[in-house]
Amino acid sequence: MRLVLLGAPGAGKGTQAKKIIEKNPIPQISTGDLLRAAVAAGTPLGKEAKAIMESGGLVSDKIVLGLVEERLKQPDCKNGFILDGFPRNTAQAEALDTLLANAQMPLTVALTVDVEKGELMKRLTGRRTCKNCQQMYNVYFTPPKKEGVCDKCNGALFQRDDDKEETIKKRLDVYDTQTAPLIDYYSRKGIMKTVMGVGSIDDIFRKVVAALG
Ligand SMILES: [Zn+2]
Repeated sequence: MRLVLLGAPGAGKGTQAKKIIEKNPIPQISTGDLLRAAVAAGTPLGKEAKAIMESGGLVSDKIVLGLVEERLKQPDCKNGFILDGFPRNTAQAEALDTLLANAQMPLTVALTVDVEKGELMKRLTGRRTCKNCQQMYNVYFTPPKKEGVCDKCNGALFQRDDDKEETIKKRLDVYDTQTAPLIDYYSRKGIMKTVMGVGSIDDIFRKVVAALG
């Protein structure tokens, strides 16, 4: 299975990725992790990326693709892989296809964990964190017994800046404009599968297994 995993922030694709890996021993490749590892190891691409990040720039597709290419050459990718967080746009998807075609390991499936926007907003903007013990709550799904107060330690609950409505809206919009066209792209290739990311984690996983075949 050579899989690209798509899904908006809050859709729960990370959780499903973990469960897929428990069932199929293939590596999960996240470009964020690759980038951090390359920078830490001081590889040529890592050094190039570090210089760009330190100057406040965005690491180019070329560097990210280079990292992905190096990673896919590792022997553990022989039986497949899950790409998570990449590609992010159609240009990256096209470049990835070329790279994979050259390596004779084309994608077998692109899977979207789909959740409607209202639900995503609740999942993400509903988060509250205890100032004292960092316990997490969600005001819609797992509220504390007393509003604004931690069940465990009576600490005050707060909303992180990352979880504020404006920030979340922006993140979801970025996903829509950049990543959603990938769904069309992979549909045209005939490898697109979609699973609704609602219900229990195990229910969703059963649908994922069925979709992956
Ligand atoms: Zn607490």
